[in-house]
Amino acid sequence: MSILNIVDLNKSFGGLRALSNVNLSIDKASVHAIIGPNGAGKSTLLNCFVGRLEPDTGSVTFDGKSLLGIKPHEINQLGVSRVFQTPEIFGDLTVLDNVMIPGFARRDGAFRINAWNPVRRKGPIAEKAMAMLKDVGLDGKADQVAGQLSRGDKRRLELAMCVVQDPKLLLLDEPTAGMSRADTNKTIELMQTIAKRGVTMVVIEHDMHVVFSLAHKISVLAQGTVIAEDLPEKIKGDPRVQEAYLGGAHL
Ligand code: ADP
Ligand code: MG
Repeated sequence: MSILNIVDLNKSFGGLRALSNVNLSIDKASVHAIIGPNGAGKSTLLNCFVGRLEPDTGSVTFDGKSLLGIKPHEINQLGVSRVFQTPEIFGDLTVLDNVMIPGFARRDGAFRINAWNPVRRKGPIAEKAMAMLKDVGLDGKADQVAGQLSRGDKRRLELAMCVVQDPKLLLLDEPTAGMSRADTNKTIELMQTIAKRGVTMVVIEHDMHVVFSLAHKISVLAQGTVIAEDLPEKIKGDPRVQEAYLGGAHL
């Protein structure tokens, strides 16, 4: 059963057709990877799911509701969380604060500044936030200023900020970009744990090790068009994919 349906999505930037009649159907509780060369339109596609970009035509339906024409925080309230290509954290706040804010937003429908009181650091949201930090291996850095974290740690922090919201759908744009092999492997394990909890994931990823470790299904985007969609083992051997993605080299 699908939870996210994209039908005939088109998006142009001036004369550039970034997405061209994209159709995609994401199965509930699955990990769906989107791969493709740089500039293929992967981030543009994801941005259309979260209210960052308005497609020119087409539909995006999540759990039976249209995600188009509603605000990013309303999409988030429906159970959609995302990790963007560039980490977006509150750099001046502590690591723990960064996870508590989306925790409050999830509970209250919005983050209210008057909820922000050091005493509340002992409540259930603080406890949940600490548990999330433990999951991503950042519990030892809870009191550090988030802006000073390494890039890999920032990405893991963003993941904790998403997971604290108990999302139904998690969108990840290159979650392991810039990470060492060891950090990448830790992130794969973490994503496997999240997937096992039944969270549907759409992952854009360059690293084929990550893709083939996680994905149940893979869509290949090239020049704004889905050129293949299949099981990982089928995608590996697809000559069209090898041609478009790696100029003929083997995946
Ligand atoms: P990918 O994530 O697959 O690398 P993108 O979705 O970022 O690709 O970009 C797809 C195409 O759209 C690229 O040619 C890119 O330069 C262009 N593009 C993306 N965002 C914008 C924008 N805001 N304005 C103009 N062109 C854009
Ligand atoms: Mg991108």
